[in-house]
Amino acid sequence: MIVQKHKKFRHHPLCKRINLTHLCFADDLIMFCKGERASIDLLLKAFNYFSKATGLVMNSGKSNFYTNGVPASLVQEIEQVTGMKRSAVPFRYLGINVPSKRLSIMDCNCLIENVVAKIRALGSRKLSYAGRVVLIQSVLSTLHCYWARIFILPKTIIGAIEKICRQYLWYGKDPKENPALVVWEKICRPKKQGGLGFRDLHTWNIATIGTYVWWVQQKTDHLWVRWVHAVYIKSANWMDYEPRSGASWAWRKIFQVKNMFKNLLSTGEPYTAQKGYFFLKPLTDKVAWYPWILNKWICPKHSFFCWLVAQNRLLTQDRLVRMGILDTNSCEVCGVMAEDHSHLFFGCAFSKQCHILVQNWCNVLVPAHDCIQWWIKWRTHSATKKKIIGVILASLMYHLWQHRNACRIDKIVMKLVCLVQKVQQDVRARLQLLDLKCNSRSVLDWVKNL
Ligand SMILES: [Zn+2]
Repeated sequence: MIVQKHKKFRHHPLCKRINLTHLCFADDLIMFCKGERASIDLLLKAFNYFSKATGLVMNSGKSNFYTNGVPASLVQEIEQVTGMKRSAVPFRYLGINVPSKRLSIMDCNCLIENVVAKIRALGSRKLSYAGRVVLIQSVLSTLHCYWARIFILPKTIIGAIEKICRQYLWYGKDPKENPALVVWEKICRPKKQGGLGFRDLHTWNIATIGTYVWWVQQKTDHLWVRWVHAVYIKSANWMDYEPRSGASWAWRKIFQVKNMFKNLLSTGEPYTAQKGYFFLKPLTDKVAWYPWILNKWICPKHSFFCWLVAQNRLLTQDRLVRMGILDTNSCEVCGVMAEDHSHLFFGCAFSKQCHILVQNWCNVLVPAHDCIQWWIKWRTHSATKKKIIGVILASLMYHLWQHRNACRIDKIVMKLVCLVQKVQQDVRARLQLLDLKCNSRSVLDWVKNL
């Protein structure tokens, strides 16, 4: 039975042009028709044929119908005929609240609840900063993949999600209002620009919605694209099109996004969300240290730590004094000089001695004063060797910081040899995990002796 062809069937007014009677995904079904008895009966009849053929039946307790401008007597009739209750929008479809008007903060509250639940479930264990970075990436990517691809989310909701992620990154499962070591805007920069590669949610949201703009421009063969061309755009030119005043909130948002990407789309090159994102947030200055710190060779825990060092963001004594938390900035390890990044890792007598021991062990000159310059300018070794030296240096710096904390909090001064042994253990463990692809005999021999 083809219900659309029946002479008594009337389409829903916004579905007539593309002959749309239903949407179906897995076991979710939405049917549309004009609010009149004959059309409803025909639609139910067609559904019953479908049920008999497939064995799939409706659960009237879990199904609802939605009407607008239909008399109360007909609503009662529909309830009796279908066994369903009348409900009101927003309704939930495929895990998303579908509103008829502007997406409200209330509609998105379940999204916030999901983010909190996911972070609580996965983050209840004690994770390092690096572990939390991975977890936040997974939460944000879920959002990117789903909600943010469907709606332009309210800025309040995006702000709330970012706050949850930000607090979880710095304080784990016990959020605090203390300032963060690095501002969120910097964290959301690409790694090349010294960030952690998180995406800025609002910009990514607009960039993904830009995909719809591209589809409409290309008249891609999607039901939705056919529908907007039939109902909204009609014969107008999409690039010059302006929505009429009664157009839906979601459609007007897509129109705004179209205006943002007009220059990009006019190039005629295929659009991707990635392209849209970097169109709105162009790559600017690159940082020279990123390939030596943010790479898969270095243990993630050490990598995150070095990322903080590279930006001078550790809570060293000099910073704590500036913040009014401490009165004295003297180094807890040597007790002689003021502690800042440079002193802690290079100037302190203890660190200098560690450098000499590590240098003797790996037979490579360890930097004397500035690791950033060392990371950038070291050109005398092969790429593989440079990366392994990066692993050594990252581990050394991490353990120097751990040692400094032990001196400060537990008043324990570790033996030099013990600290160097920890570095050696870390580096050997890391090398076992890494798949070394190197043809140089001298580098392989060097690695074997580490
Ligand atoms: Zn010192």
